[in-house]
Amino acid sequence: MSVFEHPSFDDHEKVLFATDKDTGLRAIISVHSTARGPSVGGCRFWSYDSSADALNDALRLSQGMSYKNVMADLPIGGGKSVIMKPAGDFDREALFEAFGRAVDSLSGHYITAEDVGVSPADMVSVSRSTKYVTGLPEGKAASGDPSPITAEGVFRGIRACVKRAGFSDLSGVRIAVQGAAGHVGQYLCGHLASEGAELIIADINEDALKSLHEKYGARIVDKDAIYDQDADVFAPCALGSIINPQTIDRLKVKMVAGAANNQLASRDMGAALQSRGILYAPDYVINAGGIINVMGEIRGDFDPAWVQGKLENLESTLGEILDRAESEGRPANVIADEMARARIEEARVAKA
Ligand code: NAD
Repeated sequence: MSVFEHPSFDDHEKVLFATDKDTGLRAIISVHSTARGPSVGGCRFWSYDSSADALNDALRLSQGMSYKNVMADLPIGGGKSVIMKPAGDFDREALFEAFGRAVDSLSGHYITAEDVGVSPADMVSVSRSTKYVTGLPEGKAASGDPSPITAEGVFRGIRACVKRAGFSDLSGVRIAVQGAAGHVGQYLCGHLASEGAELIIADINEDALKSLHEKYGARIVDKDAIYDQDADVFAPCALGSIINPQTIDRLKVKMVAGAANNQLASRDMGAALQSRGILYAPDYVINAGGIINVMGEIRGDFDPAWVQGKLENLESTLGEILDRAESEGRPANVIADEMARARIEEARVAKA
């Protein structure tokens, strides 16, 4: 398995392979960049088929965190960790404590948090071995569930896109929300409904959909029909890779803007959306509310006004990307990646 030649390797600063025989820990911590500050990003706990898959995830996701953090104008770099779920029985608390020791060995170059498969309770186990951990359920600066702030950022992003597309506000704008019953989806539906948007919703959690229908008059559609709706906006808030060659020609919307990470199955899907006249709000720009919330915790004294300021900033960054996409006739995702890389390089040179 190659590392420096790996297709997802992007001059990552450090990659730590950590094992612990007693607990069965097999983890990879990937520090993509510390040019703007300590690298921050969640820990994923997953049944990987191979260590090659785990490495690919760690490299790709840590680069993504660098881009997300810099575009949110946070004084941190990008990192991510993955723990390969042990086969058979294991002591979860001991495993996460061992992971904490691996995090601690990086002396603050990487600060961890929750990601897929990891709970606040796991972060408490991690905190027994290191102080470089966020997402704790309690404490003076604990930031709690990031979903409401993520939803607010996405809501602001959707509102900005809708105005750009010629609507005066959200009243009567038809918005198809995939994953409407999820943590982010539910808060997002609340914001959109309060501004008069017409909601079309899909999820696999049917009970929660019914309650959204009752609360907001949202129209429920089958999860596989969400791509085919006569709507103005498609807001993916469930899965990644949902803009792909199988779905793109089904979309009738004018905009794609939602919370899900890695919405484009491949980079060229950005150009494919643009050529169909569909405006795309780059996912890592508008879903940065969660990391903004975590940063609020890292700063040590959770200040809601600071968080709100960063959300406003997120909206202006999105505006800058979409202005450039329009004037240069190039895909918004490509512009966002270029801006992120340029900002990271600028910080690296300034620090050197
Ligand atoms: P969640 O698991 O609470 O919600 C996801 C929802 O999608 C669930 O209700 C689930 O039932 C639904 N779902 C699953 N498969 C589906 C399908 N095929 N069709 C329709 N619905 C389906 O997760 P979340 O925390 O709300 O996050 C949603 C997305 O936003 C994820 O991609 C996540 O990575 C991203 N994100 C979340 C945050 C955050 O603060 N929670 C921050 C940044 C990005």
